[in-house]
Amino acid sequence: MTDALTRLKARLGDVADLSKAAALLSWDQQTYMPRGGVGARAEQLATLSRLAHELFCDAETGRLLDAATPAAERLPYDSDDASLVRVARRDYERERRLPADFVAELSRASSTARAAWAEARQRSDFALFQPHLERIVALVRRQAEHLGYADHPYDALLDLYEPDLRTAEVRALFAELRAGLAPLVRAVAARPDAVDDALLQRGYDEAAQIRAGERIIGAIGFDFERGRQDFSAHPFCTSFAATDVRITTRVSRDQLNEALFGTLHEMGHALYEQGTSPALARTPLARGASLGMHESQSRMWENLVGRGRAFWRHFLPLLQETFPDQLGGVDVEQFYRAINRSQPSLIRVEADELTYNLHVMLRFELELALLEGALAVADLPGAWNELMQQYLGLTPPSDALGVLQDVHWSGGLIGYFPTYTLGNVISAQLYERARAELPDLDAQFAAGEFGGLLGWLHRNLHVHGRKFTPSELLQRIAGGGVQAGPYLAYLRGKFGELYSV
Ligand code: ZN
Repeated sequence: MTDALTRLKARLGDVADLSKAAALLSWDQQTYMPRGGVGARAEQLATLSRLAHELFCDAETGRLLDAATPAAERLPYDSDDASLVRVARRDYERERRLPADFVAELSRASSTARAAWAEARQRSDFALFQPHLERIVALVRRQAEHLGYADHPYDALLDLYEPDLRTAEVRALFAELRAGLAPLVRAVAARPDAVDDALLQRGYDEAAQIRAGERIIGAIGFDFERGRQDFSAHPFCTSFAATDVRITTRVSRDQLNEALFGTLHEMGHALYEQGTSPALARTPLARGASLGMHESQSRMWENLVGRGRAFWRHFLPLLQETFPDQLGGVDVEQFYRAINRSQPSLIRVEADELTYNLHVMLRFELELALLEGALAVADLPGAWNELMQQYLGLTPPSDALGVLQDVHWSGGLIGYFPTYTLGNVISAQLYERARAELPDLDAQFAAGEFGGLLGWLHRNLHVHGRKFTPSELLQRIAGGGVQAGPYLAYLRGKFGELYSV
C-alpha cells in the first residue's frame, strides 16, 4: 500500500468516526433523549457534522486522493483499494460543493424541525411545523443549487440517496407502475370482504410481541451480539459499524402486524449493514450502496419472504406458542390471508404492498411541486388531502394521519421517498434471480432455513458495501437495469390469487 493511500485511509477513518458519533447522537435523540435535550443536541450534531465535513473537504484530502490515484488505477476495478479511491473521490467532489456553514445550518435547522414535527404530529397541528418546513424547503433548494444538476433541481437531491438516478427516470418508472397497479388496486378495493384480517386485532401483549419478533429475526440471522432493537416514534435502522447496528420498532396491542413486519423490515436493513465486509470498516464503503438498494433488502425480507406462506409454515407455531388464546386455532392459510389483506389506507408505513407505492408517488409529486415553487408550504395539507383522495380515495381526518405522518421532511430529506418504491422494484428483480439460482427456497424457509438466501445476498450484495453503484450492482446480479416487470408480475400473481381478480 502506498504512503498516500495509508494516509488517505487514516483521514477517512477519522471522518467516519466523527460521522458515526453524530449518528449515535441522532439515534439517541430518537430513542432515549429527554425532550429538554433538543437545543443542546442540535448544537452537538451541528458541530460534529461541521467537523466531519471540514476534515473530509479539506484540500489535503484532495491532495491525498490525487497522490493515491495512479496506484489505485493499476488495481482491479473491484478491489477494495481501487473502489475506495474511486468512491471517496466522487464523495469529495460532491461534498466540496457544500460550504461548511451551509452544512451546519441545515443540520441545526433539521434538528429543531424534527422536534417541532414530533410535537406538531402529536397535537395534529400543522401550523406548529409550517415555519420549520418552510426553512427546510428553502435550505434544500439552496442545497440543490450548491450541488448542481443537469435537468431538474430534484436530480441533485435524488443523487444524494440514489447515485445517478434522474427525476425523468423516476417519472417514467412511476408512470409504468401506476398504469399497472391502478386497475389491480381498484379491483381489490371493490372486494373488501374477500380477505379477513380480524385475527390480527385480538389484543396482543406488547412485550410478548417484541420478544417473538426478536426470536424470529435472531433465527433468520440478525446478530444480537452486533446489534440491538429499541423503540422510536418512527422505526429506523442505523449503523455505527458492521459490529454495531441498531434497529427500532413500535408496537400496537391491536395490530399484530405493526411491530412484526416493522421489525422484519428493519432487520432487512440491518442484515445488509452487518454483512458488509470487515475490510471496509471506517471507510466510506462500509455501508449499503444506496437507499434504494437498502430498501430492496428490507422489502425482500418483510414482503417477499415475510409475507409468504413458506415463512409462516415455520414461524406460525412460534407465534401460536406465544399467543395461544388468539392464534391457537388459526392455520397458515388464514394467517397468510390476514397478513396480506389489501385496502387503501392513510398511513404509508402501515400500507399493504399493493397500495404502498401510491403513498410514495403522492410524496414525489408534492416534493417536486414544493421544490419548483408551484406549491407553498402553507398549502401543503390541502394538496396532500387532494392527492390522497385522487390516488387512494381517502381523506385524512387530521393532519397527524395525513401530511404530518412522516419524519423525513423535518430532517431535510427531500428526494428520499422515491427510493422506497425503487427498493420494492429492485427487491423483486433480485428475488427473481435468487430463486432461479436457489430453486428450493420455499422448502428451505418452511424448514426454518434462511441461510441459503442470506448467504446469497451476502455474497452478491452485502459484502460489497458501497464499492459499486446501484446500477453496477444490478448489472452484476440481475444482468440489467431497473425493470418494473418482475415486481408487477409478483403483485399481480399474489393479489390476483388472494382476491380472485
Ligand atoms: Zn426501510
